[in-house]
Amino acid sequence: MPHVITQACCGDASCVYACPVNCIHPTPDEPDFGTAEMLYIDPATCVDCGACVTACPVGAIAPGHRLTDEQQRFAQVNAAQYDADLFATDIRFPVDMGKRLPLAPVTAPVPLRAGPQHVAIVGSGPSAMYAADELLRLPTVTVTMYERLSAPYGLARFGVAPDHTATRTVMRLFDDVARHPRLRILLDCEIGRDLTLEELRERHDAVLWAGGAPTDRTLDIPGTDAAGYTCATSVVGWYNDHPDFAGERFDLSGDRTVIIGNGNVALDVARILTADPDDLESTTISRTALAALRESRVGEVLVVARRGPLQAAFTLPELIGLADHRPGTVDIIVDAADLEGVTADPDDVTEREKLALLRELAGREPTAGAPRIRFAFGLAPREILTAGGRVTGVRFARNTIGADGTATPTGGTVDVDAGLVLSSIGYHGVAVPGLPFDERRGIIPNDEGRVMDGDSPVPGVYVTGWIKRGPTGFIGTNKTDSARTIAAWRADVERGVGVPARR
Ligand SMILES: Cc1cc2nc3c(=O)[nH]c(=O)nc-3n(C[C@H](O)[C@H](O)[C@H](O)COP(=O)(O)OP(=O)(O)OC[C@H]3O[C@@H](n4cnc5c(N)ncnc54)[C@H](O)[C@@H]3O)c2cc1C
Ligand code: SF4
Ligand code: SF4
Repeated sequence: MPHVITQACCGDASCVYACPVNCIHPTPDEPDFGTAEMLYIDPATCVDCGACVTACPVGAIAPGHRLTDEQQRFAQVNAAQYDADLFATDIRFPVDMGKRLPLAPVTAPVPLRAGPQHVAIVGSGPSAMYAADELLRLPTVTVTMYERLSAPYGLARFGVAPDHTATRTVMRLFDDVARHPRLRILLDCEIGRDLTLEELRERHDAVLWAGGAPTDRTLDIPGTDAAGYTCATSVVGWYNDHPDFAGERFDLSGDRTVIIGNGNVALDVARILTADPDDLESTTISRTALAALRESRVGEVLVVARRGPLQAAFTLPELIGLADHRPGTVDIIVDAADLEGVTADPDDVTEREKLALLRELAGREPTAGAPRIRFAFGLAPREILTAGGRVTGVRFARNTIGADGTATPTGGTVDVDAGLVLSSIGYHGVAVPGLPFDERRGIIPNDEGRVMDGDSPVPGVYVTGWIKRGPTGFIGTNKTDSARTIAAWRADVERGVGVPARR
């Protein structure tokens, strides 16, 4: 049976370049790479050589015959992307690759014609680490990285959920980059507090800002100042030992927690709040959070979205991870009424599979006494309900969802009791003093990573990662993104355009 990509895939495309028969798609050169929820192996083309397994930094690829029970569904999901018959037995090498040509082997980088370059990178998250890796391939480049926290790797350490152990192993790859002799990482050094951007520009030939998009979007409705309402980010920081959230405490004494928003972060938080603490014991979860979860009385996490199931922000791999966990540990509840009359675009394989899985979940019998994650659709928050300054629930306006996905209020409302209410409606970048900022998109305006002030590039200053493109994509998406920024920097250096920042 061919190899299969599973949930942990973070889209860095290393496997694409390792595969000798070009059977992993979309590749970074294909149009749907930026929007794909993971990469997929074509089972009809895979020759089971195993090269991709070695290349994958997070252990997301397994031979089909070695899939665990929880991973079985991914074989079907990979095959569905290619309309392939998973059980065909006549697949033999050499295979007919149709129009797909083998990809070019990775070549040694061409040295810089310009003289030695000393580049500053602000931040040490995935985009910074991939950028450093790319820069350090050039023998005349040295890099100094400035990180405000006392531990590196940004959201790979402080965002990725502790039970996503495979995904967190990407930090080993970053450890390898960090050991490079021409890279220096200065921790506990915040640009804007310990050093100014101007000082950085004076000391380096170029500055690459990779500071991420650290703030949550907030709900603008009455009641959000009450105790018991907060952003999901605080909970994520709390269970991941993020120093900014070390003092946080959450009231887990109520039976129900409501999470407003249904992206992957909402699913992470819902999973951790309903997990058996014994299952988390061996993970990197904060010991304070683990102790609080042992005392928790949360029986249900309600994950609520304004629009319908087809517009759900969670990805298919994350939904599969939730649906196929150990039976009896947590029930995933979907109301069949929310799926009535909903039809997926037949040409959109991911949408089709997602809807099919939601229908399967709607048909499942709940286990008596098990904690629940319940999905609700078509509900827009109107007010956080409070008593004595504490959250008691949420008032939602009911929406109907049009065929084009638009939500229209029906005029009806529904009140839901809750002891804790979390909003998880996306992240937003913050302005960097001295650099232009697009407030609406929460990004530093740029052209392929060159920071732009109107129509003019800001000499020697570049961006990458979430602060460049907004808070979208996976850890590995930052690899291609950073490579593009470094290509723009290199083109400028070679042409002597926009450099040096150093005076
Ligand atoms: C809760 C959560 C869970 C996620 N889980 C997954 C997952 O399971 N799988 C997956 O593939 N992707 C996941 N992602 C997405 C992934 O984490 C991001 O794509 C990635 O981290 C973005 O990288 P970045 O380098 O742009 O930003 P970040 O990771 O945020 O890194 C930015 C770094 O810059 C530092 N910094 C900021 N300002 C300054 C300053 N002024 N001076 C010095 N340092 C500064 C910050 O401290 C931080 O270390 C998750 C995201 C979130 C929010
Ligand atoms: S096992 Fe080999 S042929 Fe199959 S996807 Fe991986 S690298 Fe490609
Ligand atoms: S994480 Fe990277 S190497 Fe692993 S399967 Fe996904 S794209 Fe391929």
